[in-house]
Amino acid sequence: MTTSPPSLEGLDDSPYAAELRKARPVPRFAAAMEADYRGTFLRDNRTLVRLSCTLVLLLIGLRGLEVALGRTVGGISESSPPALLSVLAVSLYLAWLAWSRGYERHYLPWARVLIPVRNCLVAAQVVRVAAHGELDILMLLPLLLIGPFYFMGLQYRTALLVVCLTVVSMLGAAIAFHLPLPIAFHTVAFSVVAAVTFAVGAQQLERRTRRAFLESRLVAELAQHDVLTWTKNRRMFDAYLPRLWCQAAEDARAVAILLIDVDHFKPYNDRYGHQAGDVALRKVAHTLQACVRRPLDLVARYGGEEFTVILYDADGRLVSSTAERIRKSIEALALEHKASRTGAVLTVSIGAAVVAPDMSRAPGGALQLADEALYRAKSKGRNRVEILDEAEYRLLVTGVFPQQLAETLRQGRA
Ligand code: GH3
Ligand code: MG
Ligand code: MG
Repeated sequence: MTTSPPSLEGLDDSPYAAELRKARPVPRFAAAMEADYRGTFLRDNRTLVRLSCTLVLLLIGLRGLEVALGRTVGGISESSPPALLSVLAVSLYLAWLAWSRGYERHYLPWARVLIPVRNCLVAAQVVRVAAHGELDILMLLPLLLIGPFYFMGLQYRTALLVVCLTVVSMLGAAIAFHLPLPIAFHTVAFSVVAAVTFAVGAQQLERRTRRAFLESRLVAELAQHDVLTWTKNRRMFDAYLPRLWCQAAEDARAVAILLIDVDHFKPYNDRYGHQAGDVALRKVAHTLQACVRRPLDLVARYGGEEFTVILYDADGRLVSSTAERIRKSIEALALEHKASRTGAVLTVSIGAAVVAPDMSRAPGGALQLADEALYRAKSKGRNRVEILDEAEYRLLVTGVFPQQLAETLRQGRA
């Protein structure tokens, strides 16, 4: 079954969509994404790598036994014991890494060095033994050519390099150990054809694997982002707030919730058109993201022309300075707004609540407090910041702001 590729229109902010747009045969991603891809690839292929490493170790072990027994009973074998021992040690180490806890961190760096060394050694030994008459050992060569591409957890380019080195080593050994010319010719010709075939297949496979990685990451991103502004979406905000709330309660840190609403945005749309409204929302969102950069903080589109910011471990000073920076930066965008009744450019009003989370209360109350603060910012003329804190929070009855108290607050603070 074939499925049509996903549309990448309007996904300019997604690094995964950007990579999917490039049509390179085997793309290499930017450093962080490449590391993520390799980690995922290694995890997904762990069973295969374990199985291959164990089988290779078993094969080499059996060959060692065969040589040892052959020597003991006086049979022929030209395998060099030091080479065989080195190959055995390398295989043992790689198998140990594949089964160890440090697999994800240590396997690949070692495999990149040890697999070419082992392949070249084995290729030379196979040719050496064949040159002494044990021709059936040449059957091992295809394993040396297919393994790096499909079974050892290597990336295509590394595997290609390993296989090229293996063929060169085979050729060198054929000359050095005087493999009869017709056999040498057939062996090398067959190996080159096999290597090219495996390489083409591996290239296609890696291309598909990389594409599948990008698509799955893009789907995960889409589930968390608002596609117009590429801030986190409401779903993500709703999931993140309770988690951060619990963490803050445990760490005894305060949390601030900012609600940011664009002033007179309906008249903006009416005057400049919905598309211009969309462009303005994107600019507002980018400005918010530029103002909020700490790792645990979050910027999300709350709905329509309303955004929300969560600040972790925030005191009144930090909230006030961040909110003012946001307000001024959006004003400084200088987006003309002739239909506004309160200014010449597009502005926002910000309501913030700073509270010390407590496991006995849900975060809904803090959100309601921020909403109350936003209401005050709007009613006091817009393009301003209002902050409510613990004093008002204590008046809230678990997420319910009694009408009477709300009225008292409005009158008292207006
Ligand atoms: P206030 O200062 O009181 O907030 O006034 P307002 O006009 O901004 O408030 P109101 O809630 O009446 O209008 C919000 C407008 O936001 C209405 C809607 O058309 C617009 N809007 C919501 N989502 C989008 C969007 O995705 N794109 C565009 N262009 N406009 C949007
Ligand atoms: Mg508005
Ligand atoms: Mg609104």
